[in-house]
Amino acid sequence: MKLKHQFVGFIPDDIQEGVIYISLEYKSVIHKCACGCGREVNTPLHPTGWKLLYDGETISLKPSVGNWSFDCKSHYWITKSEIKWSSEWSDEVIHEARKNEESERREYYRNKDSLKFKEETKIQVVSQAETKNRGWVQKIFFWK
Ligand SMILES: [Zn+2]
Repeated sequence: MKLKHQFVGFIPDDIQEGVIYISLEYKSVIHKCACGCGREVNTPLHPTGWKLLYDGETISLKPSVGNWSFDCKSHYWITKSEIKWSSEWSDEVIHEARKNEESERREYYRNKDSLKFKEETKIQVVSQAETKNRGWVQKIFFWK
């Protein structure tokens, strides 16, 4: 699938399928998920975020677009305006991420049962587990 790109001042309310909207002023890049699920994907341009490469005809976006928070969990590259699906973001990877989350949760409840934490401690443990997990997901996300 080839995306059309459109340089705009403001990102329009009505985002068309197959078009990538680029607002340099707002450092915003928005397109509809390439799987066709209709979700809007925002990939803000930032030194630690996405970078846009424009060669005068086509655009490329780096790093890859990983919509792991959407139901479709699609992951693809936009290279020279082409969608290139990534095989890296396989069910296995998602399964691993879930398993990781699951074992942290189990660990937490084991500790809770044996130690009888105070209310505050419990909250702290939960937020630590969440941060750790997010870090892990982000690592995969930015690896490629
Ligand atoms: Zn999708």
